[in-house]
Amino acid sequence: MSSQVASHRVGKKLVDVIFGASGACNEAIKVHGAEKVTNATVGSIIGEDGKLACLPTMEKAFRGLKISDVAAYAPPAGLPAYLDAVIGLTFADNKPEGHIAACATSGGTGALHMAIQNYSEIGDQVLTSDWFWGTYNPLCQEAGRTLATYQLFDENQNYNVKALEAKVEELFAKQDSLLIIINTPAHNPTGYSLTDEEWTKVLDMSKTWAAKGKKVNLMVDIAYIDYAGEKNETRRFMKQFSNLPENIFVMFAFSMSKGYTMYGQRTGALIGLSSSAELIEEFKNVTKFTGRATWSNINRGAQTLLTTIQQDSAMLAQFEKERDELYGVIRDRAAIFMKEAEECGLKALPYKAGFFISVPAKDSAAVCEKMHEDLIFAVPLKKGVRIAVCSIPKAKMYGMAAKVLKALKAV
Ligand code: PLP
Repeated sequence: MSSQVASHRVGKKLVDVIFGASGACNEAIKVHGAEKVTNATVGSIIGEDGKLACLPTMEKAFRGLKISDVAAYAPPAGLPAYLDAVIGLTFADNKPEGHIAACATSGGTGALHMAIQNYSEIGDQVLTSDWFWGTYNPLCQEAGRTLATYQLFDENQNYNVKALEAKVEELFAKQDSLLIIINTPAHNPTGYSLTDEEWTKVLDMSKTWAAKGKKVNLMVDIAYIDYAGEKNETRRFMKQFSNLPENIFVMFAFSMSKGYTMYGQRTGALIGLSSSAELIEEFKNVTKFTGRATWSNINRGAQTLLTTIQQDSAMLAQFEKERDELYGVIRDRAAIFMKEAEECGLKALPYKAGFFISVPAKDSAAVCEKMHEDLIFAVPLKKGVRIAVCSIPKAKMYGMAAKVLKALKAV
């Protein structure tokens, strides 16, 4: 077969299991009607009315934007007021001591891109857990890195700090620096959130390596933090990042996609935290450079929308109330599934919060295929089946755990 692309791009093709699963679901909807079909594939919040949920205050602020704020460019690093607001939103009352800066990005995905480009070496491995958001893979590959994984849960379904430690040791035998991506709270695809004690262990491990002269770069992917619990409780672990050694650099991937129900507006930020002012200056320089060279600058309207809500206390209170209600809907749906899973003996992974619940399966594709007989459509991942509780109305949650168990037993 002939090829026109550059030699190092030959054969590049995105494998998108979610797209495939949602395609099969749409076909079933055509045949059986939407009421009979359960679409557990969508990674956005679908309301109880079956429509994409949009926070009303977000819509009001969006429609109220001045056309000049929609049309004009933003500065390459982002609007200063947006960056200040984003730092405030990331930490709430749990701001660690240290130097902090932010750079606007194209969603959380853009923040991950920036972190990989600037805080891992070309050819090195980036580390995350074995249950992970699939996009981490192409993000690493695109940048000439590869993704390594450690086992997320031990045999008792506890966070597997030992597996993390072992993998870090293995990688530091080959590399001088390491970027570790931890998606918490409300991890995609398991719904797990690290406890404060688990974070202490992760940081103790990081400090051990830092003391040996290695560079530890921690990326905390907080894409789902606004659907994980009370604002300050979900962020309490961040206080632990105060006054870390200089060679532990901490980053956060902030995203407006879920928190503002603005997935398509592609706006987020990378936040950098360090005990060194110099390293934060360096962070500002390299991230601005990457931004300019990747997307030039970021959606000014979305940035302005965020600051508009943030600067109006009545609007902010209303916005937070609406989002908490939406979180409550997701929480109720997940509670139905987890209660029934417990009752029928389905071993789902330890879900704490967020958009997804996962069930381990050896042949997840076959299990998903089997679930189609009950008109349930979920996403087959390498290690199991992902069920998007964010997209399933409560009424359809009842009886679902038993059907997943039935499919698991049948294959
Ligand atoms: N991180 C995780 C774990 C995600 O699941 C997602 C989106 O699905 C993102 C980051 C980034 O999303 P976005 O680029 O839309 O902000």
